[in-house]
Formats: sequence, C-alpha cells, structure tokens
Amino acid sequence: MSLSLIARSIKPSPTLALNEKAAILREKGDPVIHLGGGEPKSRAPMDALLAAVNSLNSGEIRYAPADGTPEMKKAVIRYTEEYYHRKVHPENVIATGGAKQAIMVALQAILNPQEEVIFPAPYWVSYPDMARLCGALPVPVLPEDGTFYPRLKDIEQRVGSYTKVIIINSPNNPSGAYYSQEFIADIVDFCERKNIYLIMDDIYHRLLFDGRKTYSAYDFTKKSVEESKLLIVNGVSKQYAMTGFRIGWAVGNKKLIEAMANIQGHQTSGPSVLLQKAAVGALNGIQSSVESLRVTLENNRNVLVDQLRSFDGVKVTIPDGTFYLLADFSAYEKDSQKLSNYLIDKVMVLTVPGKEFGLDGHLRISYCGTIKDITEGIERMKWALDPNAPNELYIGDRKLVRDWS
Ligand code: PMP
Repeated sequence: MSLSLIARSIKPSPTLALNEKAAILREKGDPVIHLGGGEPKSRAPMDALLAAVNSLNSGEIRYAPADGTPEMKKAVIRYTEEYYHRKVHPENVIATGGAKQAIMVALQAILNPQEEVIFPAPYWVSYPDMARLCGALPVPVLPEDGTFYPRLKDIEQRVGSYTKVIIINSPNNPSGAYYSQEFIADIVDFCERKNIYLIMDDIYHRLLFDGRKTYSAYDFTKKSVEESKLLIVNGVSKQYAMTGFRIGWAVGNKKLIEAMANIQGHQTSGPSVLLQKAAVGALNGIQSSVESLRVTLENNRNVLVDQLRSFDGVKVTIPDGTFYLLADFSAYEKDSQKLSNYLIDKVMVLTVPGKEFGLDGHLRISYCGTIKDITEGIERMKWALDPNAPNELYIGDRKLVRDWS
C-alpha cells in the first residue's frame, strides 16, 4: 500500500509538534516556558459564550447551509462595512472552519496542478503545504533588502505565466510587520493589471501597536467586489481569543465564493452551527475585549523588546502588531532548528525555528503569554547562550549547571 504523492509531500505542522513536545516535558514535571504559542490566553468574550450556551440549551443543533448561517453572514457583512468600508451581500460571504479553511478552500477553488502561489517570506507555516495540497507550487519571496517588508519589485521578479494567486498576511505571522499602505496599494494594482487573485490574510488586523490604524486592500481598489479578484480572509481566533471555536470567513466575488462553498459543502458541510452562534455573539457583542487584548499584547511586546535589547548579538525588528517577534540569532547559531532544540534541551524554553517560516538564523518568540514567562524565558535563553554568563542558574529550587561552552 502506498500513500498519495500529495500526502507524501505534506510535512507535519511544526508548531503542533512543538506543543506536543512542551506537553510531554510538562508531564515529566519540567518547568517549561512556552514562547512558541499561537493563541492569546484571555477568555473568549462573554457574548460569545452566552450565545453558544443558549443555542446548546435549545437541544437543536442541526445542519446549516454549507457557506454559513444567515446570521453569521449578516454579522460578517456588518463587520466588512465597519472595517473595510464595503457593502457586500450574503453571496459575497462564506463562513469557514477557521481562517485556515477559508484559505484552503480558496486555493482549491483557484489553483490547477503545477500553478504557483506567491507569498512574501517570512510566511505563515501553512501556506506552502496548502499550495502542495492543491498539487500547486509554493513560491516564497524573501525581500531583497533583508527587511521583513516586501516591495513590489521583489514580488514582480517571481511572477510568471504559472502565477495564479498571491497571499499577503499583514500584520504578519511570524514577523509582526504591518506592510505599508504604499505596498498594499501597489500589490492590489499589480494583481489587477496581471489578473491575479489576491488573498489578504487579515487574521491579525486589529492587533496593531503604537497607534497604527487598520487599513485594507479594499481601500486601494476602484473595482466593485464583483469585478475584483480580491479575497479577504478573517476570523475570530486571534482578536477574540477564540482559537478553539474554529470559525473564520472570507469575502469576495460571488463566483469565487460559490466555488468555495461547493468545495466546502463536500468536505465538511460547513462549520458547526453552534460555533457560528458563538462567533456571531463575539462579532455583534461588546468589543472591549479586543482592545484590552491589544493593549496587553503591546505591553508584552515592549517588555520583550526591552529584554532582547540587553541581549548582545540578537538583532530585533520591532513588531508593528500580532503577538510574534522574529529575532535574528545568527550571531549565535545559523541553524535555527539546532538552536531551538538546544534551548529546549538546556533551559526548557520553546521557540519556533525561523527555518519553518522560510528564514533560517531566526527564532520566533511569542508574547501572547504572561510577562513572567517572557522575562524568565529570555533570562534563561541569555544564560544558555551568553559565554560570560555565570556557571549556574536556578529555576525555582532546581539548579542548572553549565556543562557546555
Ligand atoms: N493565518 C495566519 C497568518 C495565522 O497565523 C493563523 C493561525 N495561526 C491562521 C491564518 C489560521 O487561523 P484560524 O485559527 O482562524 O484557522
């Protein structure tokens, strides 16, 4: 028995593997600090919980339309008006099992085998495998100037006759970079001229720092939603701390949305109606939890950046948003996989190797946990890497002794 070519081309998710590693160490009683996480630790909004509980109490949880319940679509239409200043219709909206499924079914609706998907690097770990799941080819593009901010000319050089779609994720996982309005305007215009689909992965768009304001690709097109090949993807996972609810959505022209709905209909029959109720609760409810999460994350970012500044040899690009920072550790070790393993083995601190995001020599550090985890985690990393650090480190009443140089 042999597995399919596609199955064999797919790697396990590195972030899920790290979570497993952390769980195993914790079970052994090791004081692990997890700086690799991808979810806020705050509670889901009360409006989301009440909506789900009310629905559950009805005892009637049934099939729903594969492209989302009418009330979920209505909530997304309202959200799109508020944050994207666009009036869209129910046929322009699909609710999905997280933003992840929205991107996946969009790619399945758009791509033929051997066609190409372009995205700037560093990139979210799933994009390459999502392209491969369609039999298509991922084409990551690293900005030539060495920053985390792509320019149109970086992307232009990689576009060819096989290019079918570009994915832009800003603010970005893993770098926290929020791309400039000029770049977004350029890429929208470029895709329109070349007739290329443009997927905007906006999952972190309200988690911005230093007074930055959310803008969207719709701000830079004169085309109507129906004329446009722009697809906006968003969801409740990050902004409402509702990762486990698995609800996202996409907004685009009705032909594309219909194709996505047909695919989703056969795959899952659409997201759970119960969890869509919760998402509607969050979207229509009191919004203060989003701002308080944003403020907490900005504060955590400031603490992390301060800590890293006192870390000789580490190069930091200050994140504009999200809850990730991608720091350059190549002065210590160029192989980020090796470095990440070393930090787990020596001081029980989990970070994600930059290699997984298409940029070796870096580590992704998450700051969605507690300040204590951030400060203690960085202290431990410093101790493990700084050759001038004292020989011993106490973690609680555990004494670690440096047995390496
Ligand atoms: N896009 C990006 C850039 C992400 O970081 C994530 C989650 N880590 C997703 C999409 C998927 O989000 P969801 O939980 O809504 O599927």
